[in-house]
Amino acid sequence: MDYKLWINGQWVDTSGGSMMDLEDPATGKTVARAVNASRTDVDNAVQAAKTTFYDGRWSKLTPSERSLALWKLGDLLDSRREVFARAESETTGKPYAYTSLGADLPFCIDNLRYFAAAARDTHGYSAGEYLSGYTSLYRREPVGVVGQIAPWNYPLMMAIWKLGPALAAGCTAVLKPAPNTPITSLMLAELAAEAGFPPGVINVVTGGNEVGQALVEHPDVRMVSLTGSSNTGKKVMKTAADTLKKVHLELGGKAPFIVFDDVDIDNVASVATGTSCFNAGQDCTAATRVYVSENRYQQVEEAIVEAMRQVKIGAQFDEGVEMGPLISATQRERVVGFVDRARHAGARILTGGTIREGDGYYYEPTVIVDADQQSEIIQSEVFGPVITINTFENEAEAIHLGNDVVYGLAASLWTADVGRAMRVARDLEFGTVWVNDHIPLTSETPHGGFKQSGFGKDLSAEAVGDYLVTKHVMIKHD
Ligand code: NAD
Repeated sequence: MDYKLWINGQWVDTSGGSMMDLEDPATGKTVARAVNASRTDVDNAVQAAKTTFYDGRWSKLTPSERSLALWKLGDLLDSRREVFARAESETTGKPYAYTSLGADLPFCIDNLRYFAAAARDTHGYSAGEYLSGYTSLYRREPVGVVGQIAPWNYPLMMAIWKLGPALAAGCTAVLKPAPNTPITSLMLAELAAEAGFPPGVINVVTGGNEVGQALVEHPDVRMVSLTGSSNTGKKVMKTAADTLKKVHLELGGKAPFIVFDDVDIDNVASVATGTSCFNAGQDCTAATRVYVSENRYQQVEEAIVEAMRQVKIGAQFDEGVEMGPLISATQRERVVGFVDRARHAGARILTGGTIREGDGYYYEPTVIVDADQQSEIIQSEVFGPVITINTFENEAEAIHLGNDVVYGLAASLWTADVGRAMRVARDLEFGTVWVNDHIPLTSETPHGGFKQSGFGKDLSAEAVGDYLVTKHVMIKHD
């Protein structure tokens, strides 16, 4: 199937762009094609979003009207969840039952319903007299046209994390999905038309990095939100500086998983494995660096190796599959490179470290030990089912090792000691810290990074706030 662009509420042909193949990572075969948009396409999408923003068909609706449209979109998505989950699995390789239908779709639907509710949130500053003879009041207004750029690891969810808060705030949007996974974003835009969103509120331009670049450069785009790697974040920020756009960045991660000596080891091993292999480890919050109290190290290591060997790998529509292939040949080569370099640097591979022969971009769940804290495998985001295990002597060292990377997205710590949990959670420099679990998210709670994991929040009322700008109106009494 060939997909067109979604601009101004309809499917449109590209003006001067080309077509790109979309493949099934479980077979490497082309399953569809989408447009690699041109600069003219990007401009057409931005102009549609701009016209709609200023005519007020969306931005000047009441919060209740915007809320209703978002709620309806959530309902429609709920009624088509199988269709979306299937489409999502086809080009990502996600296990259909375990991941797409079992986890991603229910959360996506909940996200939309949350943002429908958040559109009506009235918390904020109060009007008052701050200078004698004047009343000041505050208006929280939508930023305007927003450019939104998404990655391939959770294509539909990332589209919703971008569009949900922006639309709740009253912005209009041009979304650019990742080049290899645009289908469910296009389907969502079409569904929004069915839900009654006016044309031009949601526009989707598909294509590669240059399409994203054109969006970030566009002078009529007031804010750009990217979910992607930290390197892309740096480029986007530099480009956005030329037009002084507001920038919102959800970037890479390298989550520590800190295990003190008073925990249930089987549970720890099961969660470490589940959250390092979920989505084939292609998750910015995946457990990647396990640090274990010295006196429990051996037991934790053995339990994790055993659990990693049990992960059921297979194609997305096979029964009982927990982990699919990596997204692409390129991504698998990256993972192979990281693990090979770790091996050459003296680390030991206790299990995995190999690709699966045959079709598809499979990589075995991998456990690495004896890696130096400053080595690449500990310091860099791998984005594959790869975990390192190291030890610490005491609480201070655990915190130091956990923080000792450039990233700051998510971390977890495991202990039965409440005081220790409170101290360590306070001192870990990460946007999310879980105690005795790893990875659960909710629509109400903010998700975003510290340090080189970016700034701004996805999810929660804070995300809606990121798409609003405050105007002060000051009224003289006489
Ligand atoms: P990527 O940075 O390569 O690409 C992300 C998006 O940015 C794509 O749509 C891409 O086309 C676009 N892009 C690339 N260069 C650009 C440029 N110069 N200007 C404008 N747009 C550009 O990332 P990826 O490989 O698609 O996704 C994996 C990365 O995303 C990982 O680093 C992961 O940690 C991160 N991620 C972060 C979160 C989070 O919430 N913090 C969530 C999911 C993924």
